[in-house]
Amino acid sequence: MKHPTGSAEWIQSVITEFIETSPDNSLRNETNDKAFETTLVGFSSGADPIYEEFKTHVGPFHWTPAEAFALAYPDIQARPEDLSVISWVLPQTGATRKDNRKEMFYPAERWARNRIFGEEFNVRIRKRLVEVLVAAGFEAVSPMLCSQWERKDSDRFVIASTWSERHAAYASGLGTFGLCDGLITPLGKAMRLGSVVARVKIPPTPRPYKDHHEYCLFFTKGTCGKCIDRCPVQAISKNGHDKIKCRNHLKPTSADYVKSRFHFDGYGCGLCQTGVPCESKIPVAADVKE
Ligand code: SF4
Ligand code: SF4
Repeated sequence: MKHPTGSAEWIQSVITEFIETSPDNSLRNETNDKAFETTLVGFSSGADPIYEEFKTHVGPFHWTPAEAFALAYPDIQARPEDLSVISWVLPQTGATRKDNRKEMFYPAERWARNRIFGEEFNVRIRKRLVEVLVAAGFEAVSPMLCSQWERKDSDRFVIASTWSERHAAYASGLGTFGLCDGLITPLGKAMRLGSVVARVKIPPTPRPYKDHHEYCLFFTKGTCGKCIDRCPVQAISKNGHDKIKCRNHLKPTSADYVKSRFHFDGYGCGLCQTGVPCESKIPVAADVKE
């Protein structure tokens, strides 16, 4: 059935169809495995006050949807309420998760391939969605692909950026943050995220949570902490995620390994996203065996 152009269902079908049919959706391994098999899409309003709040939480440099839109369309006076943020979750496949679950220090090959080639495909999804929206008469921009996008130092987050896919997903009803900083979505934490800001009015996806840590058992039940044990370099503790330690493990440590073992330029880890109760779902207390 054809959905009305510009509707939530139509946008969802554009992303889903691209995932299903694009030859670029590949880990580029011998068996040409798909990088992603499915998606989950959420929406938030450009006028949602949560985006102003992110300036306090992440840093004053974090763009509102209107600020991101204005970078691409400086001549259009778009009101925040005329804009929607489209955010999507791309869960890792079962095969990729299974491989990484077995690892104790370095990433599995599928995981490392997804980090590079899966993310390249995610960039194509962003571009594809912008193209389709613009062709249909809805100006659109992917903030992550703006030339002005950059990483920033943040008092609270140490390393932050002018647009956070995780925060856009949180605002769009797609999940809450875990102890390790990853976003726990209904399809789990082993996933990648993307987003586009468009001048189109879509009803916002309800946020079925009141707290930004609501899906993490450590914060709600005082249990779990499995991601602490999974991290090979002790970058996660009861105090949270040490981004510097984590980054140093990704580069150069895992990058050197990926090059020598799998023979491509890449990196990755994701051990804290696999072999944990929140890997592929919102965890419940019974998932933790003490
Ligand atoms: S592994 Fe446990 S403590 Fe870590 S983010 Fe997931 S639910 Fe929270
Ligand atoms: S990505 Fe790897 S190094 Fe970083 S916190 Fe997770 S397990 Fe630790």
